[in-house]
Amino acid sequence: MKLLSELSSLGFDNDIDTIVFTEQENEMLYGSSKRRRSPNDTQYLLVKTIECPCCGIDFDTYAVRAGKITPAGQDDDLRPRFNEIDPLKYDVLMCPICGYASLVKNFESATSIFKDKIREHVSPHFTGIVEEGFNYSYDEAIMRYKMAILCDAVGSDMISRRAFTCLKLSWVIRGYLESESDKITLRRRKELEADEYDCMQLAYKDFAKAYSEEKLPICGMDETTICYLLSVLSYKMKDYKETIRYIYIVLGNKTAPQKVKDKLLGLRDKAKVYVKGED
Ligand SMILES: [Zn+2]
Repeated sequence: MKLLSELSSLGFDNDIDTIVFTEQENEMLYGSSKRRRSPNDTQYLLVKTIECPCCGIDFDTYAVRAGKITPAGQDDDLRPRFNEIDPLKYDVLMCPICGYASLVKNFESATSIFKDKIREHVSPHFTGIVEEGFNYSYDEAIMRYKMAILCDAVGSDMISRRAFTCLKLSWVIRGYLESESDKITLRRRKELEADEYDCMQLAYKDFAKAYSEEKLPICGMDETTICYLLSVLSYKMKDYKETIRYIYIVLGNKTAPQKVKDKLLGLRDKAKVYVKGED
């Protein structure tokens, strides 16, 4: 996988992917160094000063003014959409000094062992960044997510942590394709479509492992929500027998909302058709 290869511009070796990911995973993802600004985003952002838990230095970052954006629905895999901007682009905090990066919700939750691993394996290779402008392009957002995936993989034993970052990166790539597909080449679009799929595949694999190994809730998701997500992701990955298995876990849960169960019945029937075709 070449997911993290563009991090070479931040000081990492070109083979950084092979350190963090398996060979098979390395085949799955890639990156781009192109830059395209998003001036419309600026009016929905504010600057916040954050203290990095790894190096202790304060840095400025952007945060979305939640009160200024309005929900525009949700995709089947729980990706939230908004009318004004794509706030997911701003959901990774990255220290420009030491390179520590993570989803906003996880940024403070770095144990001392986690911090040591970042200081030992990430910071010495990180050359630092100088941010320009007052917003992030999708390509910059993707690079920040990749740094977060690197730090998750290096520093955390919680496989769900990387799973959620990968899932959100797939959402960011989808947002990129929806909003800027007319501004990018056909080749780039095909690459991004392949990346979105591969990020979802990585998220599916890791969330499935997390569900079998970690205590609930997982990334804030109760059993109904994680099994709903796994049924949708497994269906997208054509793992139809697993789709049916996860759906029956939700259907058998007395506390699961009826509207979630109703939504999954249609997916179960579609998955059953494929499973019959496989037999
Ligand atoms: Zn730092």
